[in-house]
Amino acid sequence: MNRSPKLKPTLWDALVVLAVLALAGLLAARPLFAAKTAGELTVSVSIDGETVERCALSSYEGGVYESRGYTLTVEETDGAVYVASSDCPNQDCVHSGAISRVGQSIVCLPARVAVTLEGAASDYDLIAG
Ligand SMILES: [Zn+2]
Repeated sequence: MNRSPKLKPTLWDALVVLAVLALAGLLAARPLFAAKTAGELTVSVSIDGETVERCALSSYEGGVYESRGYTLTVEETDGAVYVASSDCPNQDCVHSGAISRVGQSIVCLPARVAVTLEGAASDYDLIAG
C-alpha cells in the first residue's frame, strides 16, 4: 500500500484549477480588449477606384451609390455593413453578406464599387492629404 501518502496533489490540483480559471478569465477578457482597440472601424466606399465616402462605422447610416448604370444600396446593422440591394447582373455583392472586420470588403465588379472596412489607423490620412 504505497498509495496513501499522496494528499498534497489534491491541493496542487486545486491550485492548478485556480490557475486555469484565472487564465481562462484572462483569455475571456482578451476579446474585450481586442474589440476595444479595433473598435473604431471606418467604412470606405470607392467607385472606380476613387473613394467617394469614408466615415466611422458607428456613424455610417448606409448609402446609395450609382456607378456604371448600376445602383447599390449599402446598409449598416449591428456594426456590420452589407449591400442590401443592387441591380448588377451577378449579385455577388449582395451575396457577399455583411462585413464587420478590418480588411474585409465587398466588391461589385460590374459597378466597380468597393465597400471596405478599415481600421482607425491614420496611414490613410496621408493619402487623403
Ligand atoms: Zn454587384
